Amino acid sequence: MSWVRFNRLFARLTPVRPVRLGTARPIASITFDDFPKSAWTRGGPILAQHRARATYYTAGGFCGRTVDGTVYYDAQDLRAIAAAGHEIACHGFAHQATPTQSFRELTEDAARNAEFLKPFLNGGAAESYAFPYGAVSPRTKKFYARRFTNARGVHPGLNSGRVDLALLNGVSMEKRCWSREAITRAITRARHDRAWMVFYTHDISDDPSPYGSTPAMLSEILDRLAQAHIEILPMREAVKAAIG
Ligand SMILES: [Zn+2]
Repeated sequence: MSWVRFNRLFARLTPVRPVRLGTARPIASITFDDFPKSAWTRGGPILAQHRARATYYTAGGFCGRTVDGTVYYDAQDLRAIAAAGHEIACHGFAHQATPTQSFRELTEDAARNAEFLKPFLNGGAAESYAFPYGAVSPRTKKFYARRFTNARGVHPGLNSGRVDLALLNGVSMEKRCWSREAITRAITRARHDRAWMVFYTHDISDDPSPYGSTPAMLSEILDRLAQAHIEILPMREAVKAAIG
């Protein structure tokens, strides 16, 4: 087992903020990581059609840039996202895997992203965090648990019963692991267990990266959730609803 995988496993086995979810009904969150501009320009209108609000995990270092052919969001996008009632959340400034960073590096990166996000949060602070690459260790899990009400990794699964708000499971809606059957099973189980489902992806495009989704895939998830009467809430609101 690689060190990265060991850290991730060990982090999962070390609860930092354990709670028992008290939802009377299942809930879902739709989240975008990094995030590519298309998550907003293509994803935003689809969310609006479904009257759904999402969470945009923002890495400040990507603002206004094109990296390896991916065009990222800019400040104007962030203002529009906030105005539309979506959640702007934290994904680190430099988008580095956290386990290899020192306490000082983690602190500086967190402060830098907090400063970057402030103008788009009415001078406030982001409440939700997602680990870049899903890379996490017990040490970095504790670090972010002190700063955010909830943190998401990429371990596949629903969140129900006893969960750790410092490392929530996710359901990928990325092209590379898209499976209609798996999503059907997850929605059925979420209804049965009254779970909190946290979907994640990156770009939204007719020709998405392996880490992104097509507009049709996003629409399908939103349609399926509506049919199943599963309410969609941004992470910061879902966490309050989930702990009752
Ligand atoms: Zn990321």
